[in-house]
Amino acid sequence: MTDRVLVLNCGSSSVKYRLYDGETVRDKGIVERVGEPGGGPADHATAVREIIDRVDLAGLGAVGHRVVHGGRRFSQPVLVDDEVFAAIEDLVPLAPLHNPANLAGIEVARRVMPGVPQVAVFDTAFHHTLPEAAATYAIDRDTAERYGIRRYGFHGTSHAYVSKRTAELLERPYEQLRTITLHLGNGASACAVDGGRSVATSMGMSPLEGLVMGTRSGDLDPTVIFHLRREAGMGVDEIDDLLNHRSGLFGLTGVNDMREVQARQEAGDPAAALALAVYCRRITGYVGAYYALLGRVDAVTFTAGVGEHSPEVRAAALAGLERLGIAVDPARNAGTGDRVISPDDAEVAVCVIGTDEEREIARETRAVVGAGR
Ligand code: ADP
Repeated sequence: MTDRVLVLNCGSSSVKYRLYDGETVRDKGIVERVGEPGGGPADHATAVREIIDRVDLAGLGAVGHRVVHGGRRFSQPVLVDDEVFAAIEDLVPLAPLHNPANLAGIEVARRVMPGVPQVAVFDTAFHHTLPEAAATYAIDRDTAERYGIRRYGFHGTSHAYVSKRTAELLERPYEQLRTITLHLGNGASACAVDGGRSVATSMGMSPLEGLVMGTRSGDLDPTVIFHLRREAGMGVDEIDDLLNHRSGLFGLTGVNDMREVQARQEAGDPAAALALAVYCRRITGYVGAYYALLGRVDAVTFTAGVGEHSPEVRAAALAGLERLGIAVDPARNAGTGDRVISPDDAEVAVCVIGTDEEREIARETRAVVGAGR
């Protein structure tokens, strides 16, 4: 095949694409407001068709699709055939907010480009190395088994890419490095990576668990759900929507953009100050927990929108951890680019690294197609 790969990332209301020639980005863009009234394309299929019409696909070797949920079955990226497509469809109940959009993209791409290999790259795959003790929820085992209830973890492509880049940045062998990666975007998750293997991660059966996010609550007592059902008379879908789309920073302040939350906090808004405190405290707790689980930590790496661009959040999230050998140098923290932001003599390297899920998907896609030649 040629090295030309189109990467499609069908999110809940947008489709992002990138066209690669080897490691070079030839084209990229985003179609937004998919399925929203007044504007954008009617659905994901229409959006993907728009992209396929717009991009120069001459000599295309493969298409790489981001797929959110790979369940227990997919621990590696795979070439999509009818059987794989059906298996991803079977996983829709586990990821009703995500997998249908991913499938729509695959469906159209297969139809419009029948001769081009389509590869699915799963957000969950990197976490297949989670020990059973990390993946198991302490509930009735038969019920859990029957309904696929366990920790799968997400953002795997990003945690894999960023932990690898951390080893490169520190010039240390990846196989020996113990890293805590903090992906803080609109969605957010933490991961403990031991020698290239995910051994703990904060997202669970779905992307709802763990850190405070733009619109998701992260961890909470499951009783909250029963209480809202019984006392507030809310329906299950309504509660699902509340916790996934109207909680987190948005629930606490009315806005999900961290820049706006920080601007309000600086202007003296107490709700914004509390939201930031809740957000950062949750991260601190996970760093401490993963430190304990790893036993020794070489690096803590921040990535994604907030992780890459908010020195305030980085400093606040790691404040008070000096006894663990974790500290942030203010001047380095204020800089830009992939870099170490801890002082020279620090025991643990604190890093900021730009994530690049699309590049990683392109690489994985080439590897799958290349291996099948
Ligand atoms: P997604 O998870 O949708 O891919 P990103 O990784 O781009 O999104 O992260 C989006 C988040 O990053 C937004 O909440 C945005 O507020 C935040 N962000 C981007 N730039 C900054 C910045 N300079 N300071 C603080 N937060 C930022």
